[in-house]
Amino acid sequence: MAEATSHAIWQRNNDGEFVIAGKALSEVIEAVGATPCYLYDRQRIATRSRELRARLPESVQLHYAVKANPMPALVCQMAALVDGLDVASAGELRIALDSSMDPAKISFAGPGKSDRELQQAHAAGILVNLESFREIDVLVRASAQTGKAARVAIRVNLPFELKASGMKMSGGARPFGIDAERVPEMLDQIRDCGLAFEGFHLFAGSQNLKAEAIVDAQTRCYELVLGWLDRCPSPAKLINLGGGFGIPYTIRDTPLDVGAITDNLGILADRARRDMPTAKLAIELGRYLVGEAGIYVARVIDRKLSHDQVFLIVDGGMHHHLAASGNLGQVMRRNYPLAINRITPQKEIASICGPLCTPLDLLADRAELDVAEAGDLVVIFQSGAYGRSASPRGFLSHPDVLEALV
Ligand SMILES: *Cc1c(COP(=O)(O)O)cnc(C)c1O
Repeated sequence: MAEATSHAIWQRNNDGEFVIAGKALSEVIEAVGATPCYLYDRQRIATRSRELRARLPESVQLHYAVKANPMPALVCQMAALVDGLDVASAGELRIALDSSMDPAKISFAGPGKSDRELQQAHAAGILVNLESFREIDVLVRASAQTGKAARVAIRVNLPFELKASGMKMSGGARPFGIDAERVPEMLDQIRDCGLAFEGFHLFAGSQNLKAEAIVDAQTRCYELVLGWLDRCPSPAKLINLGGGFGIPYTIRDTPLDVGAITDNLGILADRARRDMPTAKLAIELGRYLVGEAGIYVARVIDRKLSHDQVFLIVDGGMHHHLAASGNLGQVMRRNYPLAINRITPQKEIASICGPLCTPLDLLADRAELDVAEAGDLVVIFQSGAYGRSASPRGFLSHPDVLEALV
Protein backbone atom coordinates (compact mmCIF):
# COMPACT_ATOMS: atom_id res chain seq x y z
CA MET A 1 0.00 0.00 0.00
CA ALA A 2 1.02 3.60 -0.53
CA GLU A 3 1.96 4.15 3.12
CA ALA A 4 5.04 1.94 2.94
CA THR A 5 6.66 3.54 -0.04
CA SER A 6 9.12 6.40 -0.30
CA HIS A 7 6.72 9.01 1.01
CA ALA A 8 7.31 7.56 4.46
CA ILE A 9 9.78 10.48 4.56
CA TRP A 10 6.75 12.75 5.07
CA GLN A 11 5.47 12.70 8.64
CA ARG A 12 1.98 13.24 9.94
CA ASN A 13 1.04 15.30 12.99
CA ASN A 14 -1.21 14.11 15.80
CA ASP A 15 -4.31 14.99 13.80
CA GLY A 16 -3.17 12.71 11.00
CA GLU A 17 -2.26 15.58 8.71
CA PHE A 18 0.97 15.69 6.75
CA VAL A 19 3.49 18.25 7.89
CA ILE A 20 5.30 20.48 5.44
CA ALA A 21 7.71 23.22 6.48
CA GLY A 22 6.68 22.66 10.09
CA LYS A 23 2.98 23.26 9.46
CA ALA A 24 -0.10 21.10 8.95
CA LEU A 25 -0.84 20.67 5.26
CA SER A 26 -4.34 22.20 5.52
CA GLU A 27 -2.81 25.33 7.06
CA VAL A 28 -0.28 25.63 4.25
CA ILE A 29 -3.05 25.20 1.67
CA GLU A 30 -5.00 28.03 3.33
CA ALA A 31 -1.95 30.27 3.00
CA VAL A 32 -1.35 29.29 -0.61
CA GLY A 33 -4.98 30.03 -1.32
CA ALA A 34 -6.43 27.08 -3.18
CA THR A 35 -6.13 23.57 -4.44
CA PRO A 36 -4.88 22.05 -6.64
CA CYS A 37 -1.31 23.06 -5.97
CA TYR A 38 2.26 21.93 -5.98
CA LEU A 39 4.22 22.53 -2.80
CA TYR A 40 8.01 22.38 -2.79
CA ASP A 41 9.83 22.06 0.51
CA ARG A 42 12.83 24.42 0.67
CA GLN A 43 14.46 22.51 3.47
CA ARG A 44 14.33 19.20 1.62
CA ILE A 45 15.67 20.80 -1.53
CA ALA A 46 18.62 22.30 0.33
CA THR A 47 19.36 19.09 2.21
CA ARG A 48 19.38 16.96 -0.92
CA SER A 49 21.80 19.21 -2.79
CA ARG A 50 24.08 19.68 0.22
CA GLU A 51 24.25 15.96 0.96
CA LEU A 52 25.16 15.15 -2.62
CA ARG A 53 27.64 18.03 -2.78
CA ALA A 54 29.32 16.67 0.37
CA ARG A 55 29.81 13.25 -1.25
CA LEU A 56 31.06 14.55 -4.58
CA PRO A 57 34.78 15.07 -5.06
CA GLU A 58 35.65 18.76 -4.56
CA SER A 59 36.60 19.25 -8.20
CA VAL A 60 33.41 17.77 -9.67
CA GLN A 61 30.75 20.36 -10.40
CA LEU A 62 27.09 19.83 -9.66
CA HIS A 63 24.65 21.43 -12.10
CA TYR A 64 20.88 21.72 -11.91
CA ALA A 65 18.86 20.92 -15.05
CA VAL A 66 16.13 23.59 -14.99
CA LYS A 67 13.85 21.47 -17.17
CA ALA A 68 12.98 19.29 -14.15
CA ASN A 69 11.33 22.20 -12.36
CA PRO A 70 11.59 25.73 -13.75
CA MET A 71 9.58 27.51 -11.03
CA PRO A 72 11.50 30.81 -10.75
CA ALA A 73 11.66 30.89 -6.95
CA LEU A 74 12.91 27.32 -6.88
CA VAL A 75 15.54 28.01 -9.55
CA CYS A 76 16.72 30.96 -7.46
CA GLN A 77 17.12 28.66 -4.49
CA MET A 78 18.96 26.07 -6.59
CA ALA A 79 21.30 28.74 -7.94
CA ALA A 80 22.68 29.18 -4.44
CA LEU A 81 23.14 25.42 -3.93
CA VAL A 82 24.81 24.23 -7.14
CA ASP A 83 27.75 25.16 -9.36
CA GLY A 84 25.86 25.70 -12.60
CA LEU A 85 22.45 25.73 -14.27
CA ASP A 86 21.58 23.90 -17.49
CA VAL A 87 18.75 25.27 -19.57
CA ALA A 88 16.98 23.92 -22.63
CA SER A 89 15.11 26.94 -24.04
CA ALA A 90 15.24 30.73 -24.13
CA GLY A 91 12.43 30.73 -21.56
CA GLU A 92 14.48 28.66 -19.13
CA LEU A 93 17.47 30.86 -19.90
CA ARG A 94 15.55 33.96 -18.80
CA ILE A 95 14.64 32.26 -15.52
CA ALA A 96 18.27 31.23 -14.99
CA LEU A 97 19.53 34.74 -15.77
CA ASP A 98 17.14 36.15 -13.16
CA SER A 99 18.76 33.95 -10.52
CA SER A 100 22.03 34.64 -8.75
CA MET A 101 23.91 32.21 -11.01
CA ASP A 102 26.88 33.69 -12.87
CA PRO A 103 25.95 33.52 -16.61
CA ALA A 104 29.40 32.01 -17.22
CA LYS A 105 28.12 28.95 -15.38
CA ILE A 106 24.90 28.53 -17.35
CA SER A 107 24.81 26.12 -20.29
CA PHE A 108 22.20 25.55 -22.97
CA ALA A 109 21.34 22.20 -24.57
CA GLY A 110 18.45 21.24 -26.83
CA PRO A 111 18.04 19.70 -30.27
CA GLY A 112 16.27 22.65 -31.89
CA LYS A 113 17.78 25.92 -30.77
CA SER A 114 16.44 28.72 -32.97
CA ASP A 115 18.69 31.42 -34.43
CA ARG A 116 17.16 33.85 -31.95
CA GLU A 117 17.84 31.55 -29.00
CA LEU A 118 21.44 31.06 -30.07
CA GLN A 119 21.97 34.80 -30.47
CA GLN A 120 20.43 35.38 -27.08
CA ALA A 121 22.62 32.70 -25.49
CA HIS A 122 25.73 34.27 -27.00
CA ALA A 123 24.69 37.76 -25.90
CA ALA A 124 24.20 36.47 -22.37
CA GLY A 125 27.68 34.94 -22.39
CA ILE A 126 26.52 31.43 -21.57
CA LEU A 127 27.94 28.13 -22.86
CA VAL A 128 26.12 26.58 -25.82
CA ASN A 129 26.15 22.79 -26.13
CA LEU A 130 26.26 22.42 -29.90
CA GLU A 131 23.90 19.84 -31.34
CA SER A 132 24.26 20.52 -35.07
CA PHE A 133 26.58 22.05 -37.63
CA ARG A 134 23.95 24.72 -38.33
CA GLU A 135 24.33 26.01 -34.78
CA ILE A 136 27.99 26.69 -35.52
CA ASP A 137 27.04 28.89 -38.51
CA VAL A 138 24.59 30.91 -36.45
CA LEU A 139 27.09 31.42 -33.63
CA VAL A 140 29.85 32.38 -36.07
CA ARG A 141 27.61 35.15 -37.43
CA ALA A 142 26.66 36.26 -33.91
CA SER A 143 30.32 36.27 -32.89
CA ALA A 144 31.26 38.40 -35.92
CA GLN A 145 28.61 40.91 -34.88
CA THR A 146 29.76 41.21 -31.30
CA GLY A 147 33.49 40.74 -31.91
CA LYS A 148 33.47 38.12 -29.16
CA ALA A 149 33.83 34.39 -29.81
CA ALA A 150 30.80 32.40 -28.71
CA ARG A 151 31.46 29.79 -26.01
CA VAL A 152 30.71 26.29 -27.19
CA ALA A 153 30.88 22.66 -26.11
CA ILE A 154 29.89 19.64 -28.16
CA ARG A 155 26.91 17.58 -27.11
CA VAL A 156 27.63 14.03 -28.14
CA ASN A 157 25.15 11.38 -29.20
CA LEU A 158 26.87 8.50 -27.45
CA PRO A 159 27.58 5.28 -29.30
CA PHE A 160 25.93 3.35 -26.45
CA GLU A 161 22.74 3.42 -24.38
CA LEU A 162 22.36 4.03 -20.67
CA LYS A 163 21.20 0.61 -19.51
CA ALA A 164 18.03 0.33 -17.41
CA SER A 165 17.09 3.94 -18.01
CA GLY A 166 13.52 5.19 -17.73
CA MET A 167 14.08 7.50 -20.69
CA LYS A 168 16.92 6.83 -23.11
CA MET A 169 18.42 9.82 -24.82
CA SER A 170 21.48 8.37 -26.47
CA GLY A 171 22.68 5.39 -28.53
CA GLY A 172 21.71 4.79 -32.15
CA ALA A 173 19.84 7.35 -34.23
CA ARG A 174 18.82 10.31 -32.04
CA PRO A 175 17.83 13.92 -32.56
CA PHE A 176 20.08 14.93 -29.66
CA GLY A 177 23.71 15.95 -30.04
CA ILE A 178 26.24 15.04 -32.69
CA ASP A 179 27.00 11.42 -33.50
CA ALA A 180 30.29 10.47 -31.84
CA GLU A 181 31.77 9.60 -35.25
CA ARG A 182 31.38 13.22 -36.37
CA VAL A 183 32.88 14.85 -33.30
CA PRO A 184 36.41 15.14 -34.81
CA GLU A 185 34.94 16.90 -37.84
CA MET A 186 33.06 19.30 -35.59
CA LEU A 187 36.17 19.99 -33.53
CA ASP A 188 38.02 20.94 -36.74
CA GLN A 189 35.21 23.22 -37.77
CA ILE A 190 35.13 24.95 -34.38
CA ARG A 191 38.88 25.50 -34.68
CA ASP A 192 38.59 26.83 -38.25
CA CYS A 193 35.89 29.35 -37.46
CA GLY A 194 37.39 30.54 -34.19
CA LEU A 195 34.61 29.80 -31.72
CA ALA A 196 35.66 29.48 -28.08
CA PHE A 197 35.78 25.72 -27.49
CA GLU A 198 35.21 24.67 -23.89
CA GLY A 199 34.48 20.96 -23.76
CA PHE A 200 31.98 18.16 -24.10
CA HIS A 201 28.48 17.39 -22.92
CA LEU A 202 27.44 13.75 -22.69
CA PHE A 203 23.97 12.84 -21.49
CA ALA A 204 22.85 9.24 -21.77
CA GLY A 205 19.40 9.09 -20.19
CA SER A 206 17.05 9.80 -17.33
CA GLN A 207 15.41 8.16 -14.28
CA ASN A 208 17.96 5.43 -13.66
CA LEU A 209 18.06 3.58 -10.33
CA LYS A 210 20.96 1.28 -11.19
CA ALA A 211 24.20 2.78 -9.93
CA GLU A 212 26.29 0.30 -11.96
CA ALA A 213 24.64 1.45 -15.17
CA ILE A 214 25.38 5.11 -14.40
CA VAL A 215 28.94 4.31 -13.29
CA ASP A 216 29.49 2.35 -16.48
CA ALA A 217 28.06 5.12 -18.68
CA GLN A 218 30.11 7.84 -16.96
CA THR A 219 33.34 5.87 -17.31
CA ARG A 220 32.62 5.15 -20.97
CA CYS A 221 31.82 8.83 -21.57
CA TYR A 222 35.08 9.83 -19.93
CA GLU A 223 37.06 7.38 -22.06
CA LEU A 224 35.32 8.54 -25.21
CA VAL A 225 36.46 12.09 -24.49
CA LEU A 226 40.07 10.92 -24.02
CA GLY A 227 40.11 9.90 -27.67
CA TRP A 228 39.27 13.46 -28.77
CA LEU A 229 41.69 15.44 -26.61
CA ASP A 230 44.37 15.67 -29.31
CA ARG A 231 41.91 17.10 -31.75
CA CYS A 232 40.48 19.85 -29.48
CA PRO A 233 41.09 23.42 -30.72
CA SER A 234 42.04 24.39 -27.16
CA PRO A 235 42.29 22.43 -23.92
CA ALA A 236 38.87 21.32 -22.71
CA LYS A 237 37.63 23.13 -19.59
CA LEU A 238 34.45 21.24 -18.84
CA ILE A 239 33.47 17.62 -19.32
CA ASN A 240 29.78 17.34 -18.47
CA LEU A 241 29.08 13.66 -17.86
CA GLY A 242 25.30 14.10 -17.61
CA GLY A 243 23.33 12.46 -14.82
CA GLY A 244 20.21 10.40 -15.03
CA PHE A 245 20.03 9.76 -11.26
CA GLY A 246 16.57 8.36 -10.60
CA ILE A 247 14.24 8.48 -7.59
CA PRO A 248 11.97 5.68 -6.34
CA TYR A 249 8.33 5.92 -7.34
CA THR A 250 7.00 2.63 -6.00
CA ILE A 251 7.77 0.13 -3.24
CA ARG A 252 9.52 -2.05 -5.77
CA ASP A 253 11.98 0.72 -6.64
CA THR A 254 15.20 0.60 -4.64
CA PRO A 255 16.70 4.07 -4.05
CA LEU A 256 19.83 4.79 -6.04
CA ASP A 257 23.17 3.87 -4.47
CA VAL A 258 24.66 7.33 -4.89
CA GLY A 259 27.84 6.42 -3.02
CA ALA A 260 28.87 4.02 -5.79
CA ILE A 261 28.54 6.84 -8.31
CA THR A 262 30.37 9.48 -6.28
CA ASP A 263 33.18 6.96 -5.61
CA ASN A 264 33.55 6.39 -9.33
CA LEU A 265 33.49 10.14 -9.97
CA GLY A 266 36.38 10.38 -7.50
CA ILE A 267 38.33 7.90 -9.62
CA LEU A 268 37.47 9.77 -12.81
CA ALA A 269 38.41 13.11 -11.25
CA ASP A 270 41.83 11.67 -10.32
CA ARG A 271 42.32 10.41 -13.84
CA ALA A 272 41.24 13.79 -15.22
CA ARG A 273 43.88 15.58 -13.17
CA ARG A 274 46.50 13.63 -15.14
CA ASP A 275 44.74 13.26 -18.51
CA MET A 276 43.33 16.77 -18.86
CA PRO A 277 44.58 19.10 -16.15
CA THR A 278 42.62 22.11 -17.45
CA ALA A 279 39.29 20.32 -17.35
CA LYS A 280 36.68 20.02 -14.63
CA LEU A 281 34.14 17.23 -14.59
CA ALA A 282 30.47 18.05 -14.04
CA ILE A 283 27.24 16.18 -13.59
CA GLU A 284 23.83 17.69 -14.30
CA LEU A 285 20.78 16.53 -12.42
CA GLY A 286 17.16 17.52 -12.37
CA ARG A 287 14.82 14.94 -10.92
CA TYR A 288 17.20 13.68 -8.24
CA LEU A 289 17.71 17.14 -6.77
CA VAL A 290 14.08 18.27 -6.55
CA GLY A 291 11.74 15.34 -7.27
CA GLU A 292 11.36 14.08 -3.72
CA ALA A 293 10.95 17.57 -2.25
CA GLY A 294 7.63 18.27 -3.94
CA ILE A 295 4.03 17.17 -3.44
CA TYR A 296 0.90 17.74 -5.49
CA VAL A 297 -2.27 18.38 -3.51
CA ALA A 298 -5.82 18.12 -4.82
CA ARG A 299 -9.17 18.21 -3.03
CA VAL A 300 -11.88 15.59 -3.26
CA ILE A 301 -14.93 17.02 -5.05
CA ASP A 302 -17.03 13.92 -5.11
CA ARG A 303 -17.13 10.36 -3.93
CA LYS A 304 -18.85 7.93 -6.25
CA LEU A 305 -19.52 4.23 -6.40
CA SER A 306 -19.62 2.34 -9.67
CA HIS A 307 -20.10 -1.39 -9.58
CA ASP A 308 -18.92 -1.36 -5.96
CA GLN A 309 -15.71 0.41 -6.87
CA VAL A 310 -14.98 3.69 -5.05
CA PHE A 311 -14.01 6.67 -7.20
CA LEU A 312 -12.72 9.83 -5.57
CA ILE A 313 -13.04 12.67 -8.03
CA VAL A 314 -10.59 15.45 -7.27
CA ASP A 315 -10.13 19.02 -8.49
CA GLY A 316 -6.75 18.27 -10.10
CA GLY A 317 -5.55 15.67 -12.54
CA MET A 318 -3.50 14.78 -15.58
CA HIS A 319 -3.64 18.35 -16.91
CA HIS A 320 -1.46 19.37 -13.95
CA HIS A 321 0.38 16.14 -13.28
CA LEU A 322 0.72 14.15 -16.45
CA ALA A 323 3.42 11.90 -15.00
CA ALA A 324 1.25 10.78 -12.06
CA SER A 325 -1.48 9.81 -14.50
CA GLY A 326 1.03 7.53 -16.22
CA ASN A 327 0.98 9.37 -19.51
CA LEU A 328 4.47 10.92 -19.53
CA GLY A 329 6.46 8.24 -21.25
CA GLN A 330 5.82 5.45 -18.73
CA VAL A 331 5.91 1.98 -20.23
CA MET A 332 3.60 0.55 -17.58
CA ARG A 333 1.16 2.62 -15.54
CA ARG A 334 1.93 2.46 -11.83
CA ASN A 335 0.46 4.60 -9.06
CA TYR A 336 2.63 7.33 -7.64
CA PRO A 337 2.93 7.13 -3.86
CA LEU A 338 -0.10 8.95 -2.50
CA ALA A 339 -2.25 9.32 0.59
CA ILE A 340 -5.28 11.03 2.07
CA ASN A 341 -4.47 13.89 4.45
CA ARG A 342 -6.16 12.24 7.42
CA ILE A 343 -6.18 8.89 9.10
CA THR A 344 -9.34 6.82 9.39
CA PRO A 345 -9.78 3.57 11.32
CA GLN A 346 -10.94 1.76 8.19
CA LYS A 347 -9.00 1.65 4.96
CA GLU A 348 -10.52 1.11 1.55
CA ILE A 349 -9.54 0.52 -2.04
CA ALA A 350 -10.27 3.63 -4.10
CA SER A 351 -9.39 5.04 -7.48
CA ILE A 352 -8.63 8.73 -7.79
CA CYS A 353 -9.71 10.53 -10.93
CA GLY A 354 -9.44 14.11 -12.06
CA PRO A 355 -12.26 16.24 -13.49
CA LEU A 356 -11.32 15.76 -17.14
CA CYS A 357 -13.73 13.98 -19.41
CA THR A 358 -11.26 11.26 -20.44
CA PRO A 359 -10.31 7.88 -18.96
CA LEU A 360 -6.68 9.01 -19.09
CA ASP A 361 -7.32 11.33 -16.14
CA LEU A 362 -6.52 8.74 -13.50
CA LEU A 363 -4.26 9.64 -10.58
CA ALA A 364 -4.57 6.37 -8.68
CA ASP A 365 -5.84 3.02 -9.84
CA ARG A 366 -7.34 1.05 -6.94
CA ALA A 367 -5.00 2.17 -4.18
CA GLU A 368 -5.41 1.24 -0.52
CA LEU A 369 -6.21 4.51 1.23
CA ASP A 370 -7.81 6.06 4.29
CA VAL A 371 -11.50 6.66 3.71
CA ALA A 372 -11.97 10.08 2.12
CA GLU A 373 -14.99 12.32 1.74
CA ALA A 374 -15.63 15.41 -0.35
CA GLY A 375 -13.38 18.17 1.00
CA ASP A 376 -10.49 15.89 1.96
CA LEU A 377 -7.04 16.54 0.58
CA VAL A 378 -5.22 13.98 -1.54
CA VAL A 379 -1.44 14.17 -1.55
CA ILE A 380 0.72 12.82 -4.35
CA PHE A 381 4.36 12.46 -3.34
CA GLN A 382 7.56 12.47 -5.44
CA SER A 383 6.09 15.34 -7.43
CA GLY A 384 8.84 17.96 -7.37
CA ALA A 385 10.13 17.20 -10.87
CA TYR A 386 8.39 16.98 -14.25
CA GLY A 387 5.08 18.06 -12.75
CA ARG A 388 3.46 21.37 -13.67
CA SER A 389 5.75 22.26 -16.58
CA ALA A 390 5.50 18.77 -18.07
CA SER A 391 1.69 18.71 -18.15
CA PRO A 392 -0.92 19.71 -20.75
CA ARG A 393 -2.45 22.51 -18.68
CA GLY A 394 -4.74 23.72 -21.44
CA PHE A 395 -6.41 20.36 -21.97
CA LEU A 396 -10.14 20.73 -21.20
CA SER A 397 -9.74 24.33 -20.07
CA HIS A 398 -9.82 23.78 -16.33
CA PRO A 399 -8.12 26.29 -14.00
CA ASP A 400 -4.34 26.23 -13.84
CA VAL A 401 -2.44 24.82 -10.86
CA LEU A 402 -0.77 26.97 -8.20
CA GLU A 403 2.70 26.30 -6.93
CA ALA A 404 4.54 27.46 -3.85
CA LEU A 405 7.98 27.08 -2.35
CA VAL A 406 7.45 26.65 1.39
C1 LIG B 1 16.38 16.20 -19.09
C2 LIG B 1 17.80 16.48 -19.03
C3 LIG B 1 18.47 16.52 -17.81
C4 LIG B 1 17.82 16.22 -16.49
O1 LIG B 1 17.52 14.88 -16.36
P1 LIG B 1 17.03 14.30 -14.94
O2 LIG B 1 16.69 12.91 -15.23
O3 LIG B 1 15.88 15.12 -14.49
O4 LIG B 1 18.17 14.42 -14.00
C5 LIG B 1 19.80 16.84 -17.81
N1 LIG B 1 20.44 17.12 -18.97
C6 LIG B 1 19.84 17.07 -20.16
C7 LIG B 1 20.60 17.38 -21.38
C8 LIG B 1 18.50 16.76 -20.24
O5 LIG B 1 17.90 16.72 -21.43
